[in-house]
Amino acid sequence: MAKTIKNVLYILLWRLGVFAIARRLHKNQALILTYHGVLSKASDNYVNRNCVSAAMFDRQVRWLKKHYTVMPLSELVAAIRGEKPLPPYAAAITFDDGFLNNYSVALPILMKHNVPATIFLTTGYIGANGAKLWTERVDSIIYSSTLPRLKVQMNGQPVEFDVSSQKARERASDRIRSYLKSQNPEEREKQIIALERQIEQERNFIDEMDERYKFMSWEDAKVLAESGMELGSHTVSHSILSTLATDKLREELQDSKITIEEKLQRDCPLFSYPNGTERDFSPRDQDMLRKLGYRAAFSQVYGFNPPGSNPYALKRINIARSENFAYFLAKITGVWGLMKNLPGMK
Ligand SMILES: [Zn+2]
Repeated sequence: MAKTIKNVLYILLWRLGVFAIARRLHKNQALILTYHGVLSKASDNYVNRNCVSAAMFDRQVRWLKKHYTVMPLSELVAAIRGEKPLPPYAAAITFDDGFLNNYSVALPILMKHNVPATIFLTTGYIGANGAKLWTERVDSIIYSSTLPRLKVQMNGQPVEFDVSSQKARERASDRIRSYLKSQNPEEREKQIIALERQIEQERNFIDEMDERYKFMSWEDAKVLAESGMELGSHTVSHSILSTLATDKLREELQDSKITIEEKLQRDCPLFSYPNGTERDFSPRDQDMLRKLGYRAAFSQVYGFNPPGSNPYALKRINIARSENFAYFLAKITGVWGLMKNLPGMK
């Protein structure tokens, strides 16, 4: 069915009160949302897969706050595990991967509404390019440029670098960085700004790329924790668990947990499966999580979680790019799950 017709249908269902009825049907089943990125402005420059705009996120959080009991994920887990009662309309917000925009764009919105969230960190990527080291600035200029060549003044002579392929960009970055290492900070800054100027026309695009793909730093993660957000593990390298040998599996689950606990000085009892479809994790992986002291693990299988659900295979509802609010409501109320199986809705 065409997308616009579907959207009109969802708006109609909303007006008819179908979403309100569906929401009540899931009153005693926890709703857990998955986000990846929140971008300060929406753009058509590239496909913002798995991202929502700041304006849309604000509207969604406002709605959740008004119609649900938005709780810290660890408390929701305790209720699902039967350690305390599950409040009606319990919901939790989660973020996968650990992108900088969770900190720079989403956090202020969460704080404004006084709503908690959990961010699952891919620990091997945290701090990898979110830092403001000059070497990484140079790297990001070179890697994000779509120009075929870049010019750098070396010992007073202009030198041209081929940056038209991945290999060429790597070579150029290595040579430019090693040259700049030999320069004093003022000269170095001048050269980096000159590099940035060459790709000025692409500036907006690069800002957006940064906002979409940059990972946060451990400092950012610390601020998130101090602001009342929970930080969980999403492995070290974002490997799909079912593809790993058991030794490697233990390493991914254990090392990420220890790193988070050491860096943030707090427990890390929550885990989110990379990719997270039914194929991507097995009973072996759930056993390992339990043995290593994790209390719950979250998949990307669509659905709700009544108390007593397997805490190592909890379901979530993914919120991807959509500027259509009725579609969001269809997803979180469960109407979307019922309709996608109807003939003609594919
Ligand atoms: Zn992920």
